[in-house]
Amino acid sequence: SKQLGKNRCQFYSSDMQETARRRVQLEAELRVAIERREFVLYYQPIIDAGSGHVTGAEALVRWQHPLRGRVSPDEFIAIAEDTGMIVPIGAWVLDEALRQANEWLAQGLPELRLAVNVSGVQFREQGLLELIAQAARKPGFERIQLVLEITESVLMQSSDATEALMREIGKLGINYSLDDFGTGYSSLSYLKRFPVDHVKIDRSFVSDCLDDVNDALLVEAIINMAHSLGLNVTAEGVETESQREFLSARRCDFLQGYLISPPLPADEFRSFVLRSRAT
Ligand code: C2E
Ligand code: CA
Ligand code: CA
Ligand code: CA
Repeated sequence: SKQLGKNRCQFYSSDMQETARRRVQLEAELRVAIERREFVLYYQPIIDAGSGHVTGAEALVRWQHPLRGRVSPDEFIAIAEDTGMIVPIGAWVLDEALRQANEWLAQGLPELRLAVNVSGVQFREQGLLELIAQAARKPGFERIQLVLEITESVLMQSSDATEALMREIGKLGINYSLDDFGTGYSSLSYLKRFPVDHVKIDRSFVSDCLDDVNDALLVEAIINMAHSLGLNVTAEGVETESQREFLSARRCDFLQGYLISPPLPADEFRSFVLRSRAT
């Protein structure tokens, strides 16, 4: 068994080497990907829980690698954050999402709330304000309801400077949504201190809310607490009809998840909105 232990050790270490190698490779390829613009945005519909109408979308980045195929953001966003590459990637995401929103408006789509994920790394860069201010000066911007999705960790690690930056950006007519709500350790004081007007219940609570009484209570508590603070609530990761009923019965405002639709390429999102209006 000593022998076995040794082999296991080797197995693990070569496994770790493999992971490290892939990471180094992805990092190098990510630099190239930025120059070659190998990214594309998908849009996941968000519906009003009451009417079922599409009221918005979350933009989600995809990396179309020429050889590896599609690399998941769960794999490359962390690398991009560690290396600072999230700054140019995030700038592209914002630009592209706004360009697309303008195109939809020109095609006669109704005004929608457009949510874009912003990393904490971007928030620690002063360039973010200028980036958004530039976007806000472009024609058509006033018809786009831009929402920045930030995670609790952005607020937890934040300083007075972050708070000031958030308020400056907020003055440009941009709202904030607190993503993955419930997974961090934020307290009510964060919601009071920062100009957040929306929370998104993390999908881990949504997925278990019918089997786990604690998750059910938590979901209920988040909705009630958010409402008493005047915030809207979106549930993410809604996959079943019973989850939808549970959430609607508890007055959750908006729903997002595979039950409604997976993230879609821009043209499919457009058709989805038109179909949803027709019914
Ligand atoms: P997130 O912000 O929590 O985004 C929601 C994720 O849940 C997306 O994964 C989405 O495809 C997935 N999802 C949606 N509905 C369901 C469902 O019903 N069931 C399940 N199991 N999953 C569902 P995706 O697109 O792979 O993105 C993963 C994460 O990568 C995002 O999590 C976000 O943190 C990050 N990310 C994606 N795009 C961007 C971006 O442009 N900038 C930054 N900074 N991060 C991004
Ligand atoms: Ca998000
Ligand atoms: Ca989320
Ligand atoms: Ca998440």
